Amino acid sequence: ESVGVGEAGGSPVLDGYRHMYSGKVRDLYVPIGDDGVEADDRLLLVASNRLSAYDWMMSPEIPDKGEVLTRLSLWWFDQLADLVPNHVVSTDVPDAVAGRAVVVRRLEMLKVEAIARAYLTGGGLEEYERGGSVSGVVLPEGLVDGSRLPSPVFTPTTKAPVGEHDLPMAPDEVEAELGADVAAEVSRLTRAILARGNEIAGERGILIADTKVEFGVAPDGSGGLVLADEVLTPDSSRFWPAELWEPGHPQPSFDKQFVREWLTSAESGWSRSSGEAPPELPAHVVEQTRAKYVEAYERLTGETF
Ligand code: ATP
Ligand code: MG
Repeated sequence: ESVGVGEAGGSPVLDGYRHMYSGKVRDLYVPIGDDGVEADDRLLLVASNRLSAYDWMMSPEIPDKGEVLTRLSLWWFDQLADLVPNHVVSTDVPDAVAGRAVVVRRLEMLKVEAIARAYLTGGGLEEYERGGSVSGVVLPEGLVDGSRLPSPVFTPTTKAPVGEHDLPMAPDEVEAELGADVAAEVSRLTRAILARGNEIAGERGILIADTKVEFGVAPDGSGGLVLADEVLTPDSSRFWPAELWEPGHPQPSFDKQFVREWLTSAESGWSRSSGEAPPELPAHVVEQTRAKYVEAYERLTGETF
């Protein structure tokens, strides 16, 4: 059994599973029982090696990226277990996707991207520069790109379909979508996850500037919020090397830095504004990017990948 044989649309064909959905990075499958009946309470979540930058899918893929994301998420789910329950059921998965797949509880996903920011940059910085606040939270004066916030701020967005952009959600829009109680709990948990993440990562030389998590609930509504998808990975978060942190300008990012630098360099011959697909990544960029993902995993977990 090998990935690549019989692949459809980039997602592996897996015996005993029906391919259900492909996101930007993950492929979802429904397990089929020995009796041929599909499970309604479980999913197989497979992380691919796909990488996007500037809204384009890069080619070739980044070797081992799916496994790094999967193993790092599993590690974080454990670190966060006393804060929030998670969707993980088992890591007993088909050989073809070993290491980069998990069996999870099939949840009703909330239609909100739960984002929290501990440092100011990107869209949060732009909003602050326009009006001194971010998602309705008034911030101190004089903050610059990379400034640490007094405490994490919840900055939710919509969950746009693949190919469309997520849009900021105002607090009353989140309440209208989730109800006031669930909205408050999503905000509290998202900020707590980022705060705990930074306590742990800070000891290991990484600052987590901001992160996106997704929550779901059991289809029958019982049991409260469950942390799903992935958590505190270089794909869902901005990781900054702590030793290079210097507010006042953009920080070096941990993961896509090499890809972005190469794409915008003369060497690539690509122009972001051209609207054309970027060229193939050269081998050294692919290898440096893989090394960054592995380094993030190793720094955080203290384990060799
Ligand atoms: P993003 O870049 O915002 O993560 P995406 O939706 O394309 O976008 P992927 O990680 O590629 O993200 O896809 C994973 C999909 O699986 C998402 O739609 C996510 O909501 C969904 N998902 C994750 N965990 C569960 C779960 N336990 N039950 C049901 N759906 C889940
Ligand atoms: Mg995702």
